[in-house]
Amino acid sequence: MRSINELVRSELLDLQPYHVPVYPGMIKLDANENNYDFPEQVLEEVLSTIGGQTFGRYPDPSALQLRESLSRYTGVDRNRITVGNGSDELILDLMLAFAAGGKVVICTPTFTMYEIHAVIAGAEPVALPRKADFSVDPDAVIEAATRPGVKMVVLCSPNNPTGNTTPLEVTEKILKHTRAVVVLDEAYYEFCGETAVSLLDKYPQLVLLRTFSKAFGLAGLRLGYMLAGPEVTGIIQRVQQPFNVNAFTQQAAIRVLEWQPLFERRVRQICRSRDELFAAMRYLPGLTVYPSRANFLLFRTEMRAQQVFSGLLQRGVLVRLLDRPDLPSCLRVSVGRPEENLIFCNRLADVLRTG
Ligand code: PMP
Repeated sequence: MRSINELVRSELLDLQPYHVPVYPGMIKLDANENNYDFPEQVLEEVLSTIGGQTFGRYPDPSALQLRESLSRYTGVDRNRITVGNGSDELILDLMLAFAAGGKVVICTPTFTMYEIHAVIAGAEPVALPRKADFSVDPDAVIEAATRPGVKMVVLCSPNNPTGNTTPLEVTEKILKHTRAVVVLDEAYYEFCGETAVSLLDKYPQLVLLRTFSKAFGLAGLRLGYMLAGPEVTGIIQRVQQPFNVNAFTQQAAIRVLEWQPLFERRVRQICRSRDELFAAMRYLPGLTVYPSRANFLLFRTEMRAQQVFSGLLQRGVLVRLLDRPDLPSCLRVSVGRPEENLIFCNRLADVLRTG
């Protein structure tokens, strides 16, 4: 009998699954979530819209009301908005629709789901390293994007995990000189306020991805959305799962957008906390911390990153260990509530002092 592995593409056998370790009871600063409690009054409103039918009927497959709310929020026509079960789902859809059988140029280091979904979809990820300061070199991207077989380019601004943004002129230069689909991931848009929405009308191959998992604190309900021109939007509809965004999530997101000022205040607080944490970490010995426009900070340690990670874990704080070839000795910490940030900083100082 043939083994199951013989039935599987070799790229899939080699693929490392996206693994997120779970450590209950920790101060959780590992996943760039929003650590504030979901606001009670918004929760009450969401629950009041949930009737028995919400559970018994399929959700609105076109998520019309939600897309109308998103249209008011983004200023983009509702027919150019597609929703997904987290932006993760949309990344896979994009790969299936546009990249399968071709190559995807990914400006690394960045969010690793791009590489994983490229492989799953039968595309070949091609890593294009960012410069030493993590900025994107538009000429290098254009050169890579015009090589044979390249169907997609992936940019992320602010970039996870480096925290820096890509200026609009750089994105536009790339768009001007490539016919590949250009995916610009704006998952952390709300923390920096910079967007390429203004380029959507001019460049039909531009795709923006956003999420409710960060600024809006809905990571557990899984909602992402895509802003793109009519052609890309039409193609994505062919590969999408029907009913991909459940009824509960659709209602919650509509309410959240009605409470936008409340979430904006929290985002401003997180940005203030980020800048305070950055200032405090700069004084810690044996550590380099990188400036960030998002809700997390990347840092590099002279001590082995694994030792720093374990030392923090023993002291009740969970961060993300990134120690990998394109980010040696690096870790990433999410900006939590002020009291969590203080505890993190004190315990990090302790780890660096005592190991
Ligand atoms: N893009 C980036 C850049 C991210 O950092 C993340 C989450 N870590 C995602 C997309 C996925 O977001 P979602 O929860 O919407 O799937």
